[in-house]
Amino acid sequence: MSSQWIAQRAKCFDASGIRRVFDLGAKLTDPINLSIGQPDFDVAPEVRQAAIDAIQSGKNGYALTQGIPALREKLQAQVDRDYSHPDRQVFITSGTSGALLLAMLVLIDPGDEVIVFDPYFVMYDALAGVAGAKVVYVDTYPDFRIDPRRVAEAVTPRTKMILLNSPANPTGTVAEADDLRAVAELAAERGIVLLSDEIYREFCYDGQFVSPALFNPQTLVIDGFSKSAGMPGWRVGFAHGPAEVIREMTKLQQYSFVCAPHPFQWAATTALDVDMSPQRDAYRHKRDLIVEGLSDLYELTTPGGAFYAFPKAPWGTGSQFVEEAITKHQLLIIPGSVFSRRDTHFRISYAAPDATLERGIDILRLMAK
Ligand code: PMP
Repeated sequence: MSSQWIAQRAKCFDASGIRRVFDLGAKLTDPINLSIGQPDFDVAPEVRQAAIDAIQSGKNGYALTQGIPALREKLQAQVDRDYSHPDRQVFITSGTSGALLLAMLVLIDPGDEVIVFDPYFVMYDALAGVAGAKVVYVDTYPDFRIDPRRVAEAVTPRTKMILLNSPANPTGTVAEADDLRAVAELAAERGIVLLSDEIYREFCYDGQFVSPALFNPQTLVIDGFSKSAGMPGWRVGFAHGPAEVIREMTKLQQYSFVCAPHPFQWAATTALDVDMSPQRDAYRHKRDLIVEGLSDLYELTTPGGAFYAFPKAPWGTGSQFVEEAITKHQLLIIPGSVFSRRDTHFRISYAAPDATLERGIDILRLMAK
């Protein structure tokens, strides 16, 4: 009976792929877990203290919908310094996911087309679908590079949004500045919303982070503290973009999330002053371990950022390979089909202790032979 109650929009995504991995993993006693998309470092001590102080000093009521002034003003100053766009406004969201959902609901009408690069972060096609969009996938295999010509070919009169994510989940690819510029300029010329998910901005290993907002002042950016400050459970993110879009997103936040968690906004304010370069250096080293450990046996594009690698399965489909890794070797990884229309690759998260990575590499070497 209740299945008749479920709205069409709830049917436009399917979380069964990732659930299957977690179900298989739950049966293991000592898994080697390279499946988790969150940092393995803890929140910095001063940031934890700031959260405790905020709670102890009674900052437990609703915050302003647009975010506490201390955090918003600090981020606004940073954004003004980086972009000097007179119309660019910041507001605080319930995680980057919250910003993504608000952006979709405020910008997408049913039937609009949203361009997503395949492989993609799981929420992109799901939430675009919830908003009623038709998702247009631009394939980026085998090197996961964004090809501006293919983007131009995918644009139609119905294209409303291009969703960019660099550094990317699940591939770890950092887009080339020239490609970002070309896509940003195309979006500007054609009046298409450019939505840039910059949650892995702090995790660039071979050069400076480049935002497409540098090339298109109308770019809507979503970002957050989950990865950069290692606080995914505290649900603090932010968005910045054209003032009118930010105003509409804030209005919808008022009627949905209400505000981002108040005490953790104080913690995020402190987190902005913490030097995360030791964590970045440690993750660069983990990236190198994976690349050096697997490149001779796997087809693997060297990831320049985030904390993921996306090798091709050496035999079978991505799903078959992952099933064997989990059931025979206790190695938890995610099949590429969770993030893609193809089932050929798998995702490794190297946000794990070096010893765990080394065990994982040994197993993957064994499985490739
Ligand atoms: N975007 C990408 C690309 C991500 O990988 C994630 C988290 N896995 C998010 C957004 C959502 O992050 P948050 O915890 O800030 O909602």
